[in-house]
Formats: sequence, C-alpha cells, structure tokens
Amino acid sequence: MRCDRCGKNTNDFSVSMFNTEHICVECKEAEKKHPLYEEARKAEFEAVLKGDNNFPGIGYPKNDTGRTTEIGES
Ligand SMILES: [Zn+2]
Repeated sequence: MRCDRCGKNTNDFSVSMFNTEHICVECKEAEKKHPLYEEARKAEFEAVLKGDNNFPGIGYPKNDTGRTTEIGES
C-alpha cells in the first residue's frame, strides 16, 4: 500500500490521529511530535466516549507549527 500522506510505498500502516488517512510509520512519528497531537488525540477520545466511532479527526494542519485555522495572522 501507499501512504496517504507522503505517497511512499510501505507495508507498515497506522491510521492518522488527525484525520482518516492511512499513513506510514514515519508520518505517524512526525504526527506524534506535532504540537496539536494531544489535542487531536483528546478530540478522538471524547468522540469515542460519545459513541462516535467514526470520528473523522480534527484535520491535519498544513505545516508542523500552524493551526488548522489561522485567524489574524499573516
Ligand atoms: Zn508517509
């Protein structure tokens, strides 16, 4: 299979915590270092508590430091 995020061929897959993409181990590791990873994890956890097992995630931010919504910043 191919990683949904970086397009690399890999046999070792995880599901993203930010969205529903299937990503390779390297992308997963990069995600874990992301400043919003904890937030994404918590949102997923809370969704499951509410019975939503198909929570799509909070969305993967475009870059490593930016947020999904950038307001008042340029
Ligand atoms: Zn990847």
